[in-house]
Amino acid sequence: MAGTLFLVSTPIGNLDDMTYRAVEVLGSVDTVLAEDTRRTRILLDHYRIAVDSLLSYHEHNEAARTQEMRTALAAGASVALVSDSGTPLISDPGLRLVRAALEVGARVVPIPGPSAVLGALVASGLDPQPFSFFGFVPRSGRERTALAASLARLPHTAVLYESPQRLVRTLEWLAEMLGAERPAVVARELTKIHEEFRAGTLAGLAGHYRQHAPRGEVVICLAGASLDADYGEEEIRAAARNLAADGASTREIVQTLRDRFGLERNRAYEIALQSGEEAGT
Ligand code: SAM
Repeated sequence: MAGTLFLVSTPIGNLDDMTYRAVEVLGSVDTVLAEDTRRTRILLDHYRIAVDSLLSYHEHNEAARTQEMRTALAAGASVALVSDSGTPLISDPGLRLVRAALEVGARVVPIPGPSAVLGALVASGLDPQPFSFFGFVPRSGRERTALAASLARLPHTAVLYESPQRLVRTLEWLAEMLGAERPAVVARELTKIHEEFRAGTLAGLAGHYRQHAPRGEVVICLAGASLDADYGEEEIRAAARNLAADGASTREIVQTLRDRFGLERNRAYEIALQSGEEAGT
């Protein structure tokens, strides 16, 4: 009979957030797979969990390790996957392994626990239902353009991951793409000593973090688009210039401008062409 793959959530900062079940499972499986074995070793030692086999599972060995584990799971092994923090697969490796486990008929069992997305969302004060989670903000290119287009018309709360070094730039970009006044909340250092929730407009938050460089880990929660907003000409042109600078095609710019600002096709096309010329594309 095929074995079991446990997806074990671990703390995102505060070691006390480990669940009893997580401790129990990690101490009983044949193999623990960890993104960074040294980091996981600290957690295991803290809870005095003895493991038979602790192996790495990260983006660079995901393919080979999945093959190995597929064979073990098919033969009946029990395997636990943990990431550096929070819930595996949430902006972390593991999807390939879950699919392989399902293919060989293994049980896949979540051991729920901390995850930054839910911690940030529920304490943000923004409407938690429905919400969309986008993971990390893409740095450039088509994916970034697509994200801007999705956020522009998303009527409900969105949650994004970002690094502290890029937070200001991303808030500025969001302000240009979605409107300076869009409400948002930055959740920083969740579960840690310096935990902070800061609410404001996108422009206000960008200004704050420009003055006070953020330290630690951050999550951005973004209020849904309000569909009756009144936009100024310069705001529309700035959004178009930004899209052009990110490499968006004229067609993509037109679509985003129409989605976000409700522009007529001809008008959106005219602005898109001008922004392309200004950006030298
Ligand atoms: N698997 C994790 C989870 O379930 O949340 C996410 C891992 S992802 C590689 C790391 C990102 O999650 C960070 O860049 C940050 O956006 C967010 N994050 C993780 N821990 C956090 C914390 N304590 N406070 C705020 N954000 C956190």
